[in-house]
Amino acid sequence: MIIDRAEVIVTSPDRNFVTLKITTSDGVTGLGDATLNGRELAVVAYLREHVVPLLAGRDPHRIEDAWQFLYRSAYWRRGPVTMAAIAAVDMALWDIKGKVTGLPVYQLLGGASREGLLAYGHASGKELPELFDSVREHLADGYRAIRIQSGVPGLKAIYGIASQASDTGGGEARYDHEPARRGELPVQEDWDTRAYLRHLPGVFEAVRHEFGPELPLLHDGHHRMTPIQAAKLGKDLEPFDLFWLEDCTPAENQEALRLVRQHTTTPLAIGEIFNTVWDFQDLIREQLIDYVRGAVTHMGGITPLKKTIDYAAQYQIKSGFHGPTDISPVGMAAQAHLGLAIHNFGIQEYMPHGEKTNQVFEQSFTWQDGLLHPGDQPGLGVTLDTDEAGRYPYERAYLPYNRLADGTMHDW
Ligand SMILES: [Mg+2]
Repeated sequence: MIIDRAEVIVTSPDRNFVTLKITTSDGVTGLGDATLNGRELAVVAYLREHVVPLLAGRDPHRIEDAWQFLYRSAYWRRGPVTMAAIAAVDMALWDIKGKVTGLPVYQLLGGASREGLLAYGHASGKELPELFDSVREHLADGYRAIRIQSGVPGLKAIYGIASQASDTGGGEARYDHEPARRGELPVQEDWDTRAYLRHLPGVFEAVRHEFGPELPLLHDGHHRMTPIQAAKLGKDLEPFDLFWLEDCTPAENQEALRLVRQHTTTPLAIGEIFNTVWDFQDLIREQLIDYVRGAVTHMGGITPLKKTIDYAAQYQIKSGFHGPTDISPVGMAAQAHLGLAIHNFGIQEYMPHGEKTNQVFEQSFTWQDGLLHPGDQPGLGVTLDTDEAGRYPYERAYLPYNRLADGTMHDW
């Protein structure tokens, strides 16, 4: 059996997704997610122009070798475009191996280490009553852990808060409750770190008062603080016992985390924009974080993310894979198989996809009693309906960006 052909499928049911479909000489197909939120077509070109021509004739069972070949032979390593493209090939080959052996991918990775995956959802509100309603809705949907994002007095539109087009001067409405929006230009939002730092501890105090001490609560700082600001926030949030504080600083400066760590015991999660184990190397070895936020789609696939997670396990650091709707159902399935198999699973971010997306991607994935499970179909357990996908052509979409009150461009 050899790889016969590969094709790149772009579809935009509720949002844009890029999928690689590999077909073998025996007619077995495998799917891989190559979606890079807001820069989708760059990965399409990388795959179509430079990777697809290399795949025909290869042995689909040699997953490790295919990965090393694509990573090393290009000479130009790392980066989100390259790694999303390699990830798609890696996932598709695991999917094929599962179908050929008749096993779900988690069985090939060592078998289940748990019954299902604890997942957290995104609650948000401009004001406390709206936030509380959002928390209650998530609890009713079965979530056992919840991320809390709040509006900040004086700021009109900020990340992580579900909003209407009218909030941002007529930009396109967010899709799937996620920050990216369809439109020709990105939407501008505002930011003021001092106002945020003053406001947030009171929000957590109110949420703890309303919902009690047991519910695991998370928060995403979205790279917006300096190291000393992040240290202060971590310290101020300690009384409210967070599950984690995410992306407290722009993490390409890994040394910043040493300073944060010196001041706070609030657990830290980082890495949703990282692409390789090298981005995590210092953070893991020096135990500067508690959770690895990499996504299977952006980290080059199941093969390298498993290595990163195994490395983290030596330091009791756990997984917390990135999983809003910019990870397609194929990518979510891939990281659910990995999360089920690894010992050091921590938590999975989970935001359900829209109805149209679920019609394009048929999934064996289940969500029951607050636990995710990838299902027991051979391979990843996702099939793509190409006719349905063809009904939704690509539509340009961007993530929003933000500026300070004086017009200075700020970190995402
Ligand atoms: Mg995040």
